[in-house]
Amino acid sequence: MANLYLTHKCNRGCSFCFARKVLKESGENVDELLTIEEIKTLLSHFSGEFNQIGLLGGEPFLYPYLGEVLELLWQQNIIPKIFTSATDTMPKSIRYLNIRKHLLKFIVNVGTRDSYTDEKYKNLNNFFAKFHAVSSLSYTILALDANPEFLFDIIDHFKLLTRSIRIGVALPIYKGGNQYVDKKDYKDLGKFIIKFAQMAYKRNVMLEMDCGFTACMFTQIEFGILKRLGVRSSFVCDVAIDIGPGLKAWNCFPLFQLHKENVLESKSINELIRKFNTKMNNYFNHQVGIYEECVDCKYYKWYVCQGGCKSFKSFNN
Ligand code: SF4
Ligand code: SF4
Repeated sequence: MANLYLTHKCNRGCSFCFARKVLKESGENVDELLTIEEIKTLLSHFSGEFNQIGLLGGEPFLYPYLGEVLELLWQQNIIPKIFTSATDTMPKSIRYLNIRKHLLKFIVNVGTRDSYTDEKYKNLNNFFAKFHAVSSLSYTILALDANPEFLFDIIDHFKLLTRSIRIGVALPIYKGGNQYVDKKDYKDLGKFIIKFAQMAYKRNVMLEMDCGFTACMFTQIEFGILKRLGVRSSFVCDVAIDIGPGLKAWNCFPLFQLHKENVLESKSINELIRKFNTKMNNYFNHQVGIYEECVDCKYYKWYVCQGGCKSFKSFNN
C-alpha cells in the first residue's frame, strides 16, 4: 500500500510527530498541497496497482479537496484508509458521507483525555458517533510508564466494531529532533507491550504491531505470551512509500530528508520500492541492523526480524 501525503497542516502537535519536525527543519512550505491533478496523474500512471491507499498528513481533515480524492479513489475501486486524529471539525465531504454506499476505513490516533481541549474532544466524539463502524484505533508508544487502559475505554464507549489497536513506537527522524523511545530501552518496551497485550486480551482487544519493533525486545517466553494473547507481531522495516506534493516519494517519514524519488520515473510501485531499498542500503553501507548483534542474529537470518528502524542507523553515519 502507498500513502498520499495530502497536506503538512495539523493542529494536534504530538511530541513524537515526524511530520512537524521534518517540515520545520527541511524548510518545506507549510501551504504546499498534493494537488488533485497530481493525484489523477499518479492513479493513471500506476493504474490497477492499488487496492488500498492511505491518506495522511499532517491532518487529512484539513486538506481542502478530501471529497474529490475520495471520489477519485472510489471510481477506481481503491479503498481509502484515512489516518486522522479526528479532532478537527469534520469537513463536509466526510460529515455527509453515507458509509453504506462507500467503502473506507479510518485509523484514528488517540491520546488520553487530558491531551484534548474540550473542543477537540467534542470533535472526536462527533466523529466516532458517525464512524464507529469503520474506525479502528492507533496508538504511538512514547512513555513506557503510560497506562493504555483509556484505549479500551474508548473502544467500549464509542462502540467501535473493530476491536484492534495498531501500535507503533515513537521512532527517531533522520538526524534526530523529535521525541522517541531509545533503542537501548527496547527490552523495557518489550515488557511494556506484554503488559499492554495482557490488558488488551482481558478487554477483548487485539494488538497489531506497526514497523520498527525488534524481535530481541522480547524473551522467548514473552514471544510465546504474545502469541497466546493474539498479538499480531511483526518486526519489519519496509518501504512505506509516502507520496507528497510534486509527486515526490520518500521511504517513510523518519527517512524523509534522506532521499526523495519522482514517482513518475518508475514504471511500477515495485520498481519504486526496489529503488528505495537500493538507495537506503547503499546509504547505510549495508549495515545489517541497529545493533552490533544483528549481524549474527538468527532472527535476522530466518527473516523473522529486519533489524529495527533504519532511522537509528543515521546516528552512526
Ligand atoms: S525506517 Fe523502517 S522501521 Fe523506521 S519508520 Fe521507516 S519503514 Fe518503519
Ligand atoms: S536482527 Fe537485530 S534487532 Fe532483530 S532481533 Fe536480531 S539483534 Fe535484535
